[in-house]
Amino acid sequence: MNLLIMGLPGAGKGTQAAKIVENFQVAHISTGDMFRAAMANQTEMGQLAKSYIDKGELVPDQVTNGIVKERLAQADIREAGFLLDGYPRTIEQAHALDETLKELGLSLDGVINIQVDPACLLERLSGRIIHKETGETFHKVFNPPAGDYNEADYYQREDDKPETVKRRLDVNIAQGQPIIEHYRAQGLVHDIEGNQDIKDVFAAIQTVLTNLK
Ligand code: ADP
Ligand code: AMP
Repeated sequence: MNLLIMGLPGAGKGTQAAKIVENFQVAHISTGDMFRAAMANQTEMGQLAKSYIDKGELVPDQVTNGIVKERLAQADIREAGFLLDGYPRTIEQAHALDETLKELGLSLDGVINIQVDPACLLERLSGRIIHKETGETFHKVFNPPAGDYNEADYYQREDDKPETVKRRLDVNIAQGQPIIEHYRAQGLVHDIEGNQDIKDVFAAIQTVLTNLK
């Protein structure tokens, strides 16, 4: 299955992507994760990405389209299928993805669109914590790690500061609508109610994906 997962920052894309990958064995391609890995490794691309990410802006399309194209061309994708998370984020990226898929002889099977009330997102993002060792995402209140956890084993994302979150939400709300319309016109979009428990969101996604298979 070749899938996209869409939704505003904090909608729960990464959380649900981890469950989809575990249950449906597709390759997870998160542009945000790719940029964070490049930043941690201090590559030239990572340093460029950081200058945008720290301000809550989008990394330029040319750079983002390039890393996605390179990843989609790898051999495992044809066998396993993929779940793109955080891409496309501009209509230009959606058009570039159409081209890339055509060149590679691939097509999309579905778009999972997690819909949430934007008012809840600041709370979700300000409480987001990530396990340093595994990269697994939790929330201090809504999805705490099991048992008595050690805070030092977790970090908060630099761009989850309230000042940056506001800019990220504005940018993503402005850019997102035409992308969803682009895929709706192709009959690919499956809307998922994101204002419910993590397990209930996943149950709804599971129903959609089981029917797609
Ligand atoms: P995204 O990848 O869309 O930015 P995440 O999956 O990282 O979002 O989720 C953002 C934060 O909200 C995380 O701390 C996560 O644990 C929490 N979260 C995810 N889904 C839900 C949900 N359905 N209800 C409450 N909190 C959630
Ligand atoms: P995410 O982890 O998806 O929330 O992404 C974190 C940040 O990485 C975003 O706020 C952007 O600055 C950058 N980023 C991730 N994906 C993209 C994309 N498709 N296009 C441009 N910038 C992106």
